[in-house]
Amino acid sequence: MANRQKQKAHCNFCGRSSDEVLVLLPGVDGYICNDCAESAHEIVEEYFGRKKASSGQETPDLGKLPTPEEIKQYLDGYVIGQEQAKKFLSVAVYNHYKRLSQDRGDDVEIEKSNILIVGPTGTGKTLLAKTIAKMLKVPFAIVDATVLTQAGYVGEDIESLLVRLLQACDYNVSEAERGIVFIDEIDKIARKGDNPSITRDVSGEGVQQGLLKLLEGSVVNVPPQGGRKHPEQKMIAVDTKNILFICGGAFEGIERKIALRMNTHVVGYGTDSKLRQVEREMLLRYVAPQDLRSYGLIPEIIGRLPILTSLEPLDKDALLRILTEPKNAIVKQYKKLLQMDGTMLEINKDVLEYVVDKAIEYKLGARGLRSLFEAIMIDVMYEVPGKKERKFVLTKEYAQKQLENVNMEMMRND
Ligand code: ADP
Repeated sequence: MANRQKQKAHCNFCGRSSDEVLVLLPGVDGYICNDCAESAHEIVEEYFGRKKASSGQETPDLGKLPTPEEIKQYLDGYVIGQEQAKKFLSVAVYNHYKRLSQDRGDDVEIEKSNILIVGPTGTGKTLLAKTIAKMLKVPFAIVDATVLTQAGYVGEDIESLLVRLLQACDYNVSEAERGIVFIDEIDKIARKGDNPSITRDVSGEGVQQGLLKLLEGSVVNVPPQGGRKHPEQKMIAVDTKNILFICGGAFEGIERKIALRMNTHVVGYGTDSKLRQVEREMLLRYVAPQDLRSYGLIPEIIGRLPILTSLEPLDKDALLRILTEPKNAIVKQYKKLLQMDGTMLEINKDVLEYVVDKAIEYKLGARGLRSLFEAIMIDVMYEVPGKKERKFVLTKEYAQKQLENVNMEMMRND
């Protein structure tokens, strides 16, 4: 009987007999071959890898992580001004690490602090997000809220926000579940109008309700390629409980809501335009949750974005600093480019002032600085490599001449 069983021994998973495989491992009631055992091992690794991570095995070592001060110092190297936002971001990111390394059995559960950054366009929201991404030890993705629409309508489903994050870590779900997502243009999904709409508000409240699910933390099914979900597609389940969300938006016109709340006169009447601009800039500093509510964000979303900070508009001094100070400042980049051709670039100080004045005059903002510089430098970049000059001095007269025939409106790229 024992002999018969031995002859018949086969892998209970793939059905192959002992002659067809290398090894058959006996179990209580059957066998498994070496190939099936190996596949089983791989599947277990793949599926339970996430468990290992969440049980704390791969958590970052706090001692080796940058402190909030060090994170801010890093940001200082690239982002001019915006002190408050940099501070908030640094603390939030550091606390995110802390949450990840917290002992599961701990009764004090540290809640995540998602952030909302309000600031005029071109003042550094995306730059802050990108810079912090460079130094992070967790996956990071920047996504745009404007592509989202309510389920069932043309546009992308909310869950598609997580696709970029999955891509950032090669679809390693457990890594993505510890990541950070920057959602840009969050103001674009504000409810149109103050009262809950009677007509359908495809990109407003419905989308906010969907987003709330992500912010609160829940397991959502993500279509691996993004876009819309369709029934035959295989979904990836992602738990958003530990994902940190940083949201940014210009919230155009929110200063009126702030002014109303603060009982100052409504911006826009009776003052000259320069004064109006200054008022707008000042008011943004006082942005509070109730202003976001009157702007059209639902209270639940606001509640899930407990850290609210604003960016300051960039004045002349800030724009001058942006030209020269950041590690990748435009001036430094041009100097480097010419240096590689053996040419030293010297820029007169009045050139920088001139460029900044033009950016202000044509409302090009910090984004326009690069376009202006490119227009000024195009002929130098074209000619110098062939000429083998040792030195080129950029004067204000030369810059003026270069910009003479440029259509300034074309420089606008926001
Ligand atoms: P937004 O607030 O609209 O997201 P960005 O972060 O995209 O603006 O800024 C546009 C560009 O302007 C940046 O790539 C950067 O070159 C420059 N810039 C804006 N703000 C700053 C800043 N505070 N410090 C340094 N550069 C800045």
